[in-house]
Amino acid sequence: MTDPYGEIDADVLVVGAGPTGLMLAFELTLAGAKAIVVEKAEHPNPQSRAGSIQPRTAGVLDMRGLLDEISDPSSVVTRYLLRADPPRTTLHT
Ligand SMILES: Cc1cc2nc3c(=O)[nH]c(=O)nc-3n(C[C@H](O)[C@H](O)[C@H](O)COP(=O)(O)OP(=O)(O)OC[C@H]3O[C@@H](n4cnc5c(N)ncnc54)[C@H](O)[C@@H]3O)c2cc1C
Repeated sequence: MTDPYGEIDADVLVVGAGPTGLMLAFELTLAGAKAIVVEKAEHPNPQSRAGSIQPRTAGVLDMRGLLDEISDPSSVVTRYLLRADPPRTTLHT
């Protein structure tokens, strides 16, 4: 793999530094591959997109020992409300 600045020593080029790309690069590194992540955005999105973590996501993070790093027991949600519109459906935990 080459670029205008010289040779890039990598096995895998991951395009996009969102959660998927970063986790993929993390897993590839754990598996022994050299991964490079490229991102087209110049700055992180200032909008929050991590207000909640889905159970499956929490399980994967826990498997890698990362859950405790990002978990704050004081912010665990024990009850929430979902609305689908249409039809007007309300689901409670
Ligand atoms: C307002 C909002 C709130 C949300 N809240 C939550 C939440 O609370 N909990 C939750 O679990 N999920 C939430 N989500 C969903 C969550 O953000 C997405 O599921 C997640 O970001 C998907 O990750 P991704 O890496 O697949 O894609 P993205 O996050 O979209 O990342 C893709 C990245 O690739 C980059 N890219 C694209 N094309 C190229 C290219 N050609 N070259 C280089 N880089 C490129 C993009 O700039 C981007 O940074 C929310 C989403 C939104 C919009």
